[in-house]
Amino acid sequence: MLFPLHPQTPLCNVFILLNNEFLHFLQESIQGNVFSEALFTEHTCPDGNVRSVCWTNLETREKFHDLWSVLPTGVGARSNLYNLVRRCQNIEIFFDDIDEDLPLIEPEELFSAIKALTTHLFLRTKSLSEAKRQSGSSIEKHYQDFLRINNNSLLCYVCGTEYLSQNRTNLADEDQWRADYDHILCKDKYSIYGAHPGNFIPTCHTCNSKAKGARNLLINNEGERRKAFYPLPPSRESCYYYAKVVVQPKTLERLKLNPIDAPIEEVVVNFPDAPAELLDKISVWREVYQVPSRIENRVAVSFCETITSRLLNPGDFNDFRVQLGRFAGRMPLDYRTSEGSFWWYRVCEHLAAQDAEFLRDIWTLLDWKRQQADKDDMEATFGRI
Ligand SMILES: [Zn+2]
Repeated sequence: MLFPLHPQTPLCNVFILLNNEFLHFLQESIQGNVFSEALFTEHTCPDGNVRSVCWTNLETREKFHDLWSVLPTGVGARSNLYNLVRRCQNIEIFFDDIDEDLPLIEPEELFSAIKALTTHLFLRTKSLSEAKRQSGSSIEKHYQDFLRINNNSLLCYVCGTEYLSQNRTNLADEDQWRADYDHILCKDKYSIYGAHPGNFIPTCHTCNSKAKGARNLLINNEGERRKAFYPLPPSRESCYYYAKVVVQPKTLERLKLNPIDAPIEEVVVNFPDAPAELLDKISVWREVYQVPSRIENRVAVSFCETITSRLLNPGDFNDFRVQLGRFAGRMPLDYRTSEGSFWWYRVCEHLAAQDAEFLRDIWTLLDWKRQQADKDDMEATFGRI
């Protein structure tokens, strides 16, 4: 992850409720002879005890029944299943210890029934009004609590380049839009975590749907275990502190041959000073979320316009150097709240450390690009002149 979450970032109560119901069901099934309400919990609400939503909601009950139909026979085998699921509740362990066995659910029909159940809990049951009442919360409420404890930042914690969602004024938590919730461990491979409260983090659409998809953080393409960032407390691992951005500009002569080309020859995001134990996790983050590649492209194509506007449109080379030194001297206040702010700060930090000749080349590019933009504006307004 790029940025660390606040240590008191809450888990989602609806998923705590549903995951507990799943565990309770497996435990009660050890001695159970028949599929009945006795396998489910009874909830204590302010207005008295209520029956579990997982029993009273017919569709959810059917998914539990489907699981019941394929549970192993015998007390011993059912105990083993329950103990396996119970023992693996602390997801965080798998991210640091590659010798810790990931839960293997067999046979296939049992795996599929659990997957179908937890997927249904995640997609449908969590949104039922009774699930909200019994948990005293909702995913929408959780999302707003998540934002509040994290300084009301809407910026994606994985990439720092895109907003999670946008809030609107004067709306209740329930009515706000919410971000995508990424399954940290993909539900297709880790069925018992499909509705586990420790397996979700709000992410931007690009991180969740385009970059990560069903990629596996803990197993590489060769099928080997690996370490990865676990974003939630208490771990909250991040790498922003060590990130650097290096740029190599094109010469103006080259750019003039093809003015619509990106002005930067090469951009590299790297982590030269990161401790060894973090480097492996950074490479997984790089591969799965493809954040450095996204940054490298954005810096390459919008370098001139963004640097010029972040440095408040410097008038000449000296002004550029003074402003650059000032900007690079301190992390901007909005580095964790505004899109791209952190990454552009790292670009300026790199520039400020270069010699006068390098900076002169950069200034020449910025100045030329600005003249080009002014000319384009004039032509768009008054026609070719
Ligand atoms: Zn993101």
